[in-house]
Amino acid sequence: MLTHKTGIDYAKTLDELDPLAKYKSEFHIPKDKDGNDLIYFCGNSLGLQPKTTKTYINQELNDWANLGVEGHTEAKNPWLPYHEFLTESTARLVGAKPIEVVTMNSLTANLHFMMASFYKPTAKRYKILIESDAFPSDKYAVESQLRHHGYDDKDGLILWSPRVNEDCLNYNDLEHILNTQGHEIALILIGGVNYYTGQFFDLKRITTLGHKAGCKVGFDCAHGAGNVNLDLHNSGADFAVWCTYKYLNAGPGSLSGCFVHERHANNKNLNRFTGWWSHNKTTRFNMRDEFDVLPGAEGWQLSNPPILSMAAIKASLDLFDSIGMETLIKKSKQLTSYFEFLLKQLGEDTIKIITPSNPNERGCQLSIQVLNADKNLHDKLTKSGVISDWREPDVIRCAPVPLYNSYLDVYHMVDKLQTILKH
Ligand SMILES: *Cc1c(COP(=O)(O)O)cnc(C)c1O
Repeated sequence: MLTHKTGIDYAKTLDELDPLAKYKSEFHIPKDKDGNDLIYFCGNSLGLQPKTTKTYINQELNDWANLGVEGHTEAKNPWLPYHEFLTESTARLVGAKPIEVVTMNSLTANLHFMMASFYKPTAKRYKILIESDAFPSDKYAVESQLRHHGYDDKDGLILWSPRVNEDCLNYNDLEHILNTQGHEIALILIGGVNYYTGQFFDLKRITTLGHKAGCKVGFDCAHGAGNVNLDLHNSGADFAVWCTYKYLNAGPGSLSGCFVHERHANNKNLNRFTGWWSHNKTTRFNMRDEFDVLPGAEGWQLSNPPILSMAAIKASLDLFDSIGMETLIKKSKQLTSYFEFLLKQLGEDTIKIITPSNPNERGCQLSIQVLNADKNLHDKLTKSGVISDWREPDVIRCAPVPLYNSYLDVYHMVDKLQTILKH
């Protein structure tokens, strides 16, 4: 852990030295009823709105108003290939090749589309392995896939669980599961960063272990994209999905990103659900061709996409491009390390951080277990102007986001928490 100091002057100094401090003013920061900025630590749930988003969306609204259907080809950013304007930035963001990524659908829908291709159960190998604390939607999706293929969802689900009195997952346990039951497992689906504990998994290690056991491996990177270095191509994963409304700040319910590894790019025999947007672009509008699938991740698209939502994604990706993930992660590590330092001053008999202490095994989120607390504490924290996330029974999830959170935000948050804990 980096060493820090406790006083408010130290926080102010860190903000003055922070080359990314100016980006806070590029975002709309929610305010309390007196007009004061709230301390927003919920970017892991819904990222804030960049001030440029409106301009990007207005461009498309205006082109639609002025051009109608002609906008498909005549808009400033023609709608027909609009999703392609996101490809290079998305690839950089998640460490993929352009052919491996596409923006389409929403997240849980993409999970299903990926499972249509990469969950191919047989009588001997039909089980799916997930984290015991997987995000509920992922668990529901996996269970329904098991049932869809005629399997029992209890029998078919294998959980990778933490050890007694531990919160995070241990790779030795995964190895043990794969050594003993790997031959029955068709698919491993893990959250790249666990939504609850904030544990950032070693994607390459999991993929290597999974492939060695003959399983397909996919990741849900909803809490990873825009937060950590995912390096998806080098991980070797078969597929990955994520959303763009958490760390990617593209607005509520915005579209999902999808990664399919290059080695599957030209495999026309993979089973998949298709639509006209997965069809060859040059003959798509002949409207009667035999289906001819596009190479790469684009070949999993179904529909012509919602341009207004994509415009918001473009606004956000341009911001990420102007900084670069490496620079962002550098600040993120320092900001979260400072947060961790201040929280530890509150005393181990009061709070316990369940997120890994190793900066390479987490993103910006810290999950704080407050001993003997209930939702009352979180309500007080909210009333004091801190927006965070409460998970029963006793965990506050806080994400100081390097794009728009300051060191002073962190200082004030812990100060308020301390005041509440004392009363
Ligand atoms: C946020 C999140 C979801 C939400 O799914 P939607 O389909 O976007 O509603 C699903 N899975 C994980 C891991 C998430 O973090």
